[in-house]
Amino acid sequence: MSDLVLVLNSGSSSIKYQLLHSDSAEVLASGLVERIGEDSGRIVHEAGPAKLVYDGKIPDHKAGLARAFEMFRETGLDLKTLGIGAVGHRVVHGGEVFWKPTLITDEVLHAIEKLSVLAPLHNPANVVGIESTRELLPDLPQVAVFDTAFFHTMPDAARTYAIDAKIAAAQDIRKYGFHGTSHQYVSEKAAEFLGKPAEDLNQIVFHLGNGASASSIQGGVAIDTTMGMTPLEGLVMGTRPGDLDPGITPYLMRAADLDVSGVEQLLNRNSGLKGLSGVNDFRELQKLIDTGDADAKLAYDVYVHRLRRYLGAYLVQLGTVDAIVFTAGVGENSPAVRADALAGLQNLGIEIDPERNETRTPGIRRISPDFAPVDVLVVPTNEELAIARAAHKLVSA
Ligand code: AMP
Repeated sequence: MSDLVLVLNSGSSSIKYQLLHSDSAEVLASGLVERIGEDSGRIVHEAGPAKLVYDGKIPDHKAGLARAFEMFRETGLDLKTLGIGAVGHRVVHGGEVFWKPTLITDEVLHAIEKLSVLAPLHNPANVVGIESTRELLPDLPQVAVFDTAFFHTMPDAARTYAIDAKIAAAQDIRKYGFHGTSHQYVSEKAAEFLGKPAEDLNQIVFHLGNGASASSIQGGVAIDTTMGMTPLEGLVMGTRPGDLDPGITPYLMRAADLDVSGVEQLLNRNSGLKGLSGVNDFRELQKLIDTGDADAKLAYDVYVHRLRRYLGAYLVQLGTVDAIVFTAGVGENSPAVRADALAGLQNLGIEIDPERNETRTPGIRRISPDFAPVDVLVVPTNEELAIARAAHKLVSA
């Protein structure tokens, strides 16, 4: 089976895509369809040195994909005749049903759609993306790779919320965790880099992007993570608050007269770094801090405080930690966050070499001194490659 895979990540108004070889990781083309359904949309498509931009109305996901597929043709890549082995779709919520990459049939698609109650902001968009691709490329096998899958192994004590057990069971309320594809990918890469089997390592992974989560991984198996039933729990994120006293929601509904969608809007779009400082982008936040902005500084301090709280929790859970891994936009690019998150922990064997921390090199790197008992690594994540490999493996089996 050809190792060429088209990977799609469909959001409510956008689709990110990449065409790549899953063996060599060589990317032939990538792009982003944006502002689907709005007055004016945009597609930016890159294939080697060629960069095409389309500006115009994109009424729906299918129209956006059809236009993007034309752009593939315009750059000499006809998706129908290239010999693609599979299409891999990122699907956010697999619930209790899916914890492995799964070949998409009508039945599977229906089940993913049913899981929309658990992820109303994500699964419906994933379903639309899958349906559109199946219509446009009907002859290719399509594979769903679930963001929750890696955390399926969490023990009951970690995944159970302490609320009425009958209600929890009836409504499927439990911790599922997200960003699993990234946590799994970077923890495997870290093991490769350290020259040891993942089964022999305990790791704490910080995926710090616009969304952010940490995980506690024991011998290659996830035993806890910060995101919960939804991607709102845990760390402070670009626009999401992370952990919050559950009493705040009913309080706000009464005191600030917010309805359900008002609360959802507040928690998904107007909280986190943005809620505290006005900006959700970490680079913007750093610029504000440099100008002496007190709100931005507080946002940063809350962000780091939360990281350290979970670091402490996971150190205790694991007992012994071999590696602490930073990944995603902030984790890969902010030496300040890495240094502040791990400051003052020399007695626990955790230390950062300031020069290594500041030095940027592509690929994986160790930022702890060679003598430190705990390896601190920066590992670039690559969810597209992980999805491509999972899809290729499934269709080749
Ligand atoms: P992601 O969701 O992984 O794409 O990460 C997005 C986040 O990474 C945004 O908050 C960006 O501001 C942040 N980011 C990207 N590059 C840098 C950088 N050089 N320094 C600090 N933050 C960065």
